[in-house]
Amino acid sequence: MFVVVAELLAVAGVVLAAASADTPTVTDWFRLALLFAGATVHIQLTRRQEERRRSRMRSVLIDLNAVWVFPAVLVLPVTLTVALIVAVRAQRWLIARRPAHNFVFSTVAHCFAATLAATLHGALGPADWDALTPAASLREFALILLAAAVYEGVQLVYVGGAIALSGPAPTPRAVLGSPADNLLEAIATGLGAVTAVLLVTLPPAVLIMTAVAVVFNRLAEIEQLQADAASDPKTGLRNMRGWSDAAGRALSRIRRADGTLAVLMIDLDHFKEINDTYGHPAGDDVLARVADVLREATRPADIVGRFGGEEFLLLLPDTDADAARHAAERIRATIADLHIDTTDKRGSHVTIAGPTASVGIAVYPDHATTLTGLTQAADAAVYTAKETGRDAVYLAEPADG
Ligand code: GH3
Ligand code: MG
Ligand code: MG
Repeated sequence: MFVVVAELLAVAGVVLAAASADTPTVTDWFRLALLFAGATVHIQLTRRQEERRRSRMRSVLIDLNAVWVFPAVLVLPVTLTVALIVAVRAQRWLIARRPAHNFVFSTVAHCFAATLAATLHGALGPADWDALTPAASLREFALILLAAAVYEGVQLVYVGGAIALSGPAPTPRAVLGSPADNLLEAIATGLGAVTAVLLVTLPPAVLIMTAVAVVFNRLAEIEQLQADAASDPKTGLRNMRGWSDAAGRALSRIRRADGTLAVLMIDLDHFKEINDTYGHPAGDDVLARVADVLREATRPADIVGRFGGEEFLLLLPDTDADAARHAAERIRATIADLHIDTTDKRGSHVTIAGPTASVGIAVYPDHATTLTGLTQAADAAVYTAKETGRDAVYLAEPADG
């Protein structure tokens, strides 16, 4: 419902602005053609890569169209800007083949954001970029930043609002996008501002922006690959590499501050039986839910990772033995309360109730002073928990005993 109303309002706004826009001049058409050509070359040169990137992304999809659309916002009449957005997005859509309603929704969001930003920019009176005094160029730059903020802000609110209202419990990350996504989008808009300046002062140089945009796509892909290399695809938690990097940094910080920290090793009990009884896909669902529990039951500064198979590692900074025991006990109880809806080997619905876990705790500096030492001590405590009947929390033995 919100979505439909928002759509209609946005379309009305865009039509209204378009109706009162200036009639495009020959120069405007020429600039439109240049931007469209640049965007088309950019899209075609990066289509393979964009497909790969999209297939991996779980959160909001960000594309780099702002490199081409934002200059239109600054220099073209609204009618041509809207035409450019539709033409550019249609090309992307033909490649990505995502659901049509998504495409319509985000195209309307783009048009609306562009229209508002262009209207504001136009109302504040842009100057002639060919002949700016230093003071006037500062004012003009501030104006571009303002237009960029409106262009980005409206999209964020519009798309984020739809996500916030459509899901039962949306996370801030799902609504606002990740910091990396937003940085990407901000840089694309910044490149768009440069494109606008070139378009007005030295039009052929817009071709250079195509090369810049393609390189920029590569950088975005590297960023994504780095994130992938440090995370576990099955649970979305850090993998051992990601965990060790982050945990090593936390340990150094705590060491310098003479603080304490706790490492928790969590091993699911008789997990092999879950696999044997219900099948590996059901086992995977259990792992994913336990990972959710670990994410939800921890603080933002805690470092959560999958050690391997059905073992998880937690690093809790600034936590002593007592606090760690409380946290571990809470996590153990939450896991034991889980009811996981999944399918068994035959594909019938089944609920797996109360998988249990054994938890071992090691505290810095009491049990060990290195990450390896702490992990080993926590692992040894897990074995004590297993021997005494599982579904339990054990603290590591004192280092000297
Ligand atoms: P214990 O209570 O002693 O820990 O018994 P356990 O069965 O949990 O321990 P064991 O080490 O014997 O078995 C671990 C099982 O975890 C065996 C392996 O097939 C399963 N496993 C490891 N990784 C995955 C995975 O990614 N998915 C699924 N479904 N199972 C996995
Ligand atoms: Mg194990
Ligand atoms: Mg186990």
